[in-house]
Order: sequence, then C-alpha cells, then structure tokens
Amino acid sequence: QVKGQGKNGYTAFQPHMHTANLDRLSVENDLRKAVKEGNQFELHFQPQIDADLGKVVGLEALIRWNHPRAGMISPDVFIPIAEETGLIIAISDWVLREACAQLAHLKQHGFGEIRLGVNLSPREFDRVDLLERIRIPLDEFRIAPESLEIEITESLLMKDVENIVARVKRLRSTGVHISIDDFGTRYSSLNYLRRFSVNRIKIDQSFVRDLRTPHDSFAIIQAIVGIARNFNLHVIVEGVETEQQVAILKQLGCNEMQGYFFSRPLPSAKLMDFLKLANRSGSGESFAPRPGF
Ligand code: C2E
Ligand code: MG
Ligand code: MG
Ligand code: MG
Repeated sequence: QVKGQGKNGYTAFQPHMHTANLDRLSVENDLRKAVKEGNQFELHFQPQIDADLGKVVGLEALIRWNHPRAGMISPDVFIPIAEETGLIIAISDWVLREACAQLAHLKQHGFGEIRLGVNLSPREFDRVDLLERIRIPLDEFRIAPESLEIEITESLLMKDVENIVARVKRLRSTGVHISIDDFGTRYSSLNYLRRFSVNRIKIDQSFVRDLRTPHDSFAIIQAIVGIARNFNLHVIVEGVETEQQVAILKQLGCNEMQGYFFSRPLPSAKLMDFLKLANRSGSGESFAPRPGF
C-alpha cells in the first residue's frame, strides 16, 4: 500500500513499477507523452455502497496510467508529478470528460441516480477557469451537475480560507456537489465545516484500518459522525475491507461505505455487470461481496 508513505512515495512504489530504473525525469517525459497521446490512461470506478439498502449509491473515479514499459503506475506516484509540472490540468480535463461520459452511459442503462466523485488537485482551485472546465463536459454529455461530486482535500481548505470559502461557494452554486476527501488526516479544524458549503465528508481509510478494537479510531469516527449530522453533512467511510468493519461502522451510524470489501475500482466494462448484480430490483438484503470483483 503506497498511500500514507509521504508526499514522495515515489521510491516506495518501486515494486509495482517493474522497472526500477524509471527515474523522475523519465516519468515526467513519459507523462507528457501520455497526456498528448491520451490512450495510456484509464478511468476506473469504485462503488460506494449504502450498507442499509445494500445498493450502490455512488462511484469514485480513479485514474490509472498504463505505462508502455513500466506497467500500471499508481496515481499516488504520478499525480504529484502532474501537479508540479502543470500537466494536472490536461489530465483532469480528460478525467472530467471520461467521468461525464460514464454518467451519460449510466443514465442510459437506468442508473441515473448514481453520483460520481472526481478528485481534483488543490492547485486547480487557484485557477479562474475551474468552473468553465467543469461545465464544458457536463454540457457536452447533458449531465445534471448534481450527479457530479468534486472531491477536494482538507489541505486545500486550510490554505487561504477567505479565498477558498468563496471559490467553494461558487463551485457549489453551479449545482455540483463537493466532498472533503481523506477527512481527519490533517489538523481538521472541525470549525471550518461550518464555513464551507460542502455536501459530504469522506473519512480517511486510516481510521478504518485500526477499527478492530474500540479504541481511538472508534471514538474519532463517532465524533465525526456526530458533528457531520449537526452540520447536515453526508458521511462516507473509505477503505472498508472486512465484514467486521462494516458491522462496527453501521453501529457507529455510518451507512455509506467504499472499500475492497465491496469492490475494487472497476474498469467501465466490469462496472456495468457489478451494478446489474448489486442494484437489481428487489434486492433489499444486506450487501454481499461479489466474487470476481
Ligand atoms: P483517494 O481519492 O483517497 O482514493 C482512494 C484510494 O484508496 C484509491 O487509491 C483506492 O483504490 C484506494 N482504496 C479503495 N478502497 C480501499 C480499501 O479497501 N483498502 C485500501 N487499502 N485501499 C482502498 P488509488 O486509486 O491508488 O488512488 C490514490 C490517490 O490518487 C487517490 O486517493 C487520489 O488522491 C489520487 N487520485 C486518483 N485518481 C485521481 C484523479 O483522477 N485525479 C486526481 N487529482 N487525483 C487522483
Ligand atoms: Mg478521492
Ligand atoms: Mg480518500
Ligand atoms: Mg487522497
């Protein structure tokens, strides 16, 4: 697991990179080429489940880079490089367009109620063209803005509060939903939740990881859920891997969950099969992991 190994989790990722001699500079060059050619990226979709209904209520779009020689490179490795080089703008434009195409596809197949989360980098919020960049693919595919949820990280909200409050408000006014990703990993001043008109917080997977015994994480999740309820915010928990975690989280009042227990991020083709199984009419029973996903 690469996440959490620091901002330059770059070397940490080597086992997955197949070729250890891919240095930073060549990744940068290759990334530039990939952006130009466009066919090395794939968007995968991880289901978000309402554990009470046993149905998929949302998806998170997660980018994959299939490097011609090194194989799959984790976004934790190349997104930071894309941010530093400015390539993130072109990459996000690609992601937003793919995401909207997927939303149109879902609607066509009767899954129009499912929302789709897209990760944006804090850097993109400093740009005046953000709203326009989001509006273009929404219009192209005739997607209701409410179907799209922009995921931002806490670190963004701590930068330049007045400025960011205004930007978040403006984004919300377009109808697009906003969630705070990896919630709880920074100095989450719960106070700012009042000021930002976000819709959802995504509790970071690090809290779920040590949920085995009712210790610190247990109390933290309980506190977050309580506060979120007061602020009328939706909560989803990330990184849910076991049935035991599902049971504890339900007890704590979290019903929306995302994690390997339910499904890994899926390529588009597999996603449809998964949704047909999971959301078939009449299924009200609790969600069972689907083998093969
Ligand atoms: P994130 O937005 O917090 O996404 C959740 C990450 O947790 C994903 O990793 C997902 O595959 C992984 N995950 C989901 N369920 C589980 C689980 O049960 N256990 C464990 N151990 N992990 C789980 P992924 O796809 O490698 O993405 C890593 C990060 O890269 C993302 O974290 C996000 O910050 C960034 N990212 C991914 N796609 C994009 C994108 O299109 N644009 C931008 N700007 N960033 C992206
Ligand atoms: Mg995310
Ligand atoms: Mg996250
Ligand atoms: Mg993240």
